[in-house]
Amino acid sequence: MADPIRARSTRAAATPLVPHGEPPAYFTFSSLTALGLPHATTTRHCPGTGPQPGPAPFTAETARALAPAGLDLARVGFGRQVHQASVARVGEGGGFAGKADGLVTTARRVPLAIFAADCLALLLYDPEAAVLGATHAGWRGTARAVAPATVAAMIALGARAERIRVAISPSIGPCCYEVDAPVIAALSSAYPDAWERWVTAGRSGHWMLDLWAANEVQLERAGVPGGHVENARRCTACHPDELYSYRKYSLGADAKGRLATLAALP
Ligand SMILES: [Zn+2]
Repeated sequence: MADPIRARSTRAAATPLVPHGEPPAYFTFSSLTALGLPHATTTRHCPGTGPQPGPAPFTAETARALAPAGLDLARVGFGRQVHQASVARVGEGGGFAGKADGLVTTARRVPLAIFAADCLALLLYDPEAAVLGATHAGWRGTARAVAPATVAAMIALGARAERIRVAISPSIGPCCYEVDAPVIAALSSAYPDAWERWVTAGRSGHWMLDLWAANEVQLERAGVPGGHVENARRCTACHPDELYSYRKYSLGADAKGRLATLAALP
């Protein structure tokens, strides 16, 4: 009998993350590597990504750790993530893009960075148009359709939805993501025809939410072919030894820190 959780979300290709270092400081996605896209999604073993040391998004140690991935963090672009659906364009100089949970660029060798510790980070790439996107999607951003907003911003820069390839970072899975009525209210009002397929009833007044499935459906509706999405299906809360999980931290585990997911146009 099929695993009921896995059966919900079969559109996306699930391939193993490729580890780099021992223990791994970061992972890469084989689909993006095959396209020649420099990228990485960090683990808790990546230096400088624990409790934030200052206003700069990355330390010199992090920059050194991610250099082998082909990422030059001197020009990294990043936003202040506020669980909305606004998308900012990052230019040649990179840097702070303001309040934005979606980032897009056509500038080569300018990394886009998303920070998360349970929320999804999505990397989106149209190799033909050379347009890159990155998205931060928790339940609020998903209810506000931040991934489709990022796809739309990429299309405005010359991308075509049917060419976009997507990778979904390690993030909280339907195995561990318990939500309550306000979350269900937001998702059911935004997606009345789909939300029931993204949740499983849990204990009284609670549901288990599959944000992976929700974002995969949103991407498909935005025109991105299901086979173009690589989902690591690596749950942050299930792997506290390797990843940071806000959920685990809030439950008392020693896990404070953020995972960074980055890519740069070659
Ligand atoms: Zn889990």
